[in-house]
Amino acid sequence: MTRVGIGYDSHRFVAGRPLVLGGVTIPHALGLAGHSDADAVAHALTDAILGAAGAGNIGQLFPDNDPQWKDADSMELLRTAHELVRGRGLTLAQADCSVIAEQPKLAPHLAAMGAALSSRLGLAAGAVSVKAKTNEGMGFIGRGEGLAVIAVAVLEGR
Ligand code: MG
Repeated sequence: MTRVGIGYDSHRFVAGRPLVLGGVTIPHALGLAGHSDADAVAHALTDAILGAAGAGNIGQLFPDNDPQWKDADSMELLRTAHELVRGRGLTLAQADCSVIAEQPKLAPHLAAMGAALSSRLGLAAGAVSVKAKTNEGMGFIGRGEGLAVIAVAVLEGR
């Protein structure tokens, strides 16, 4: 059986927080606002995995009003969600993520993000790919107010 899920996430840029995407801390003047570490790549991929399994969404699993998840390591939330779907006999075969951000330039960090995501999920290198693009200056992303991530996950299992 093959199942496909999609995930989306967006966060606002704020000063005074690190920018963490796909488990990689990226040098930048601004970070992302959020209850957890605001790793939007990990969040979108978590939702894609949960969606593919019909297992709800990240907000149900890790409510953002629960102090337990304040400043949480989102890569660990991702791993936990994957363990949950593994418990249902499904495993992530492959995932693809697109980060849409005007700044910073993410190209130098994409391979590290893919490697970190694959590794944290216990998958072969290359199982998770991460791409980046701008929004051509349009909308909230174009104005630099925040960024967004879209992820697609393919689960295989019984
Ligand atoms: Mg999020």
